[in-house]
Amino acid sequence: MTTEQVAAHINPWEVAQRQFDLAADKLNLDPGLRRVLRQPRRELTVHFPVKMDDGSVQVFTGYRVQHNLGRGPAKGGIRYHQDVTLDEVKALAMWMTWKCAVVGIPYGGGKGGVIVDPKKLSSKEVEALTRRFTTEIEVLIGPERDIPAPDVNTNAQVMAWMMDTYSMHQGYTVPGVVTGKPISLGGSEGRNEATARGTVFCIIDAAREVSLDLASATVAIQGFGNAGSIAARLIAEEGATVVAVSDSTGGIHKPDGLDISRVVAWKKEHGTVQGFPGAKDITNAEILEVRCDVLIPAALENQITSRNAGRIQARIVAEAANGPSTPEADLELFRRGVFMIPDILCNAGGVTVSYFEWVQDLNRDHWSEQVVNEKLRGIMTRAFAETLAIAKRDQCDMRTAAYLLAVQRVADATAMRGLYP
Ligand code: NAD
Repeated sequence: MTTEQVAAHINPWEVAQRQFDLAADKLNLDPGLRRVLRQPRRELTVHFPVKMDDGSVQVFTGYRVQHNLGRGPAKGGIRYHQDVTLDEVKALAMWMTWKCAVVGIPYGGGKGGVIVDPKKLSSKEVEALTRRFTTEIEVLIGPERDIPAPDVNTNAQVMAWMMDTYSMHQGYTVPGVVTGKPISLGGSEGRNEATARGTVFCIIDAAREVSLDLASATVAIQGFGNAGSIAARLIAEEGATVVAVSDSTGGIHKPDGLDISRVVAWKKEHGTVQGFPGAKDITNAEILEVRCDVLIPAALENQITSRNAGRIQARIVAEAANGPSTPEADLELFRRGVFMIPDILCNAGGVTVSYFEWVQDLNRDHWSEQVVNEKLRGIMTRAFAETLAIAKRDQCDMRTAAYLLAVQRVADATAMRGLYP
C-alpha cells in the first residue's frame, strides 16, 4: 500500500478519540466528564446547490462541527478538499479544543469542510460555493459563537467572501465572524505567517532541548502551502538548510540545500515543486524518510504510521499539519528518542494570531506586525515550556504532555460550569 492508501484507511476521528482516551486515563478523569468531552457538541451536515459556469447546478456536501464550547466560542478552519469526511472534521474540531487550551486562549474547538477539489473550479464557482456554504452554516457561526478561519485550500480571499456574506445578512459589517482575512478587511498583521512562525518558535525551543545547532541543521518539509512554504522560509532564516520539500504532486530533494524563494517561484510558474533544477524528484512517502535533523509534516493526516515511523531519520518531528502521526507512530518515535512537537502545540501559532485578529476586530484596533510576533512568541514559548515541564515530570512524550495540560484545562472549565439544567 502507498502512504496515501495507508492514510485513507486510518480514521482520524478514531485517532483523536484514542489520543483523548490516553490522556483521560492518565488524568483519571471523572467518567461523566469523559463521556462529555469524548463527543462533539454539535455536528451540522449541509447539502447545497451551486450554479456552475456552464449553467449546470451541482450539489455539494459540507460540514461544521463544534466539539466543545466550555472555554469560549468555537474556533477552527474551513477545509476544501475532495477527501473531506464528517469524521475528519470531527477530529479536527476536537484537536482545536485541545489546541486552544494548550496555548490558553479563550476558545472552544470547531472545524468545517466541504467535499470539493477547488482546483477544478473557477474563481467565480469557488466564490459562489463559499457564499452558499456560509449561508448554510450561519445557524452556527458568529463572532460570539463560532469563528471560522482558513485551512487546506482556503485563504484570505475565501475568508473575505465569508465575512461579506455574513455581513450582508446582518445588514452591517461584522469583521469578527472569521479570521485570516485580508489586512484591508480587518485581518491581522502576521496572520498569514503565524502557523509557520509558531512552528519555528517550537523548533527553536526543541533544538535547544536536544542540543541541536539549527545553523548547521537540515530540514525536510512535506506540504508546501501556507504552513509548509512559509515554515521553509522562516527556518532557512534561522540558518537551517532545507534539503527537501513536497506538495500534492510529489517532492524534491537536494542534500546541499534548496533556495526556498526560487522553489516558491518555480511552483508558482509550474504548479508543482517537481522538476526544480538541480534537485531530485522524490515521492511524498520518501520525503518523510530523507536524512535530515528536523522533519516538518505540513500537509494532511496519517502520514507517519507504524509502517514508516521506524525509518524516520529526523531528531525532531514538528507537526505543522493536524494529525500527521498515528498513536502507534508516536510510541515508536518516543521509543527511538525522536523529539516530537505535537500538532496541538506546534501549529497553534495560527489560532493564536487568529485570536489576536478577533480581539483587534472587536476593539476596532490594529496592531503592528512586531507587536503581533512578540505576543505570539510569548504565548508559544510559555506553552512549549509548560508542556515540556509535564513531559519531564511524567517521563512521557510531548503529545501526552500537551494532552494532559489541555484536557485538564478543558475539564476544569467544564466541571466549574456544571451540568445544565
Ligand atoms: P494549504 O492548502 O495552504 O497547503 C497544503 C499543502 O499540502 C499544499 O502544498 C498541497 O499541495 C500539499 N498536499 C496536499 N495533499 C498532499 C499530500 N497527499 N502529500 C503531500 N502534500 C500534500 O494548507 P495549509 O493551511 O498549509 O494546511 C496544511 C496543514 O496545516 C493542514 O493539516 C492544516 O490543518 C494545518 N494547519 C493550517 C493552519 C493555517 O493557519 N493555515 C493552522 C494550523 C494547522
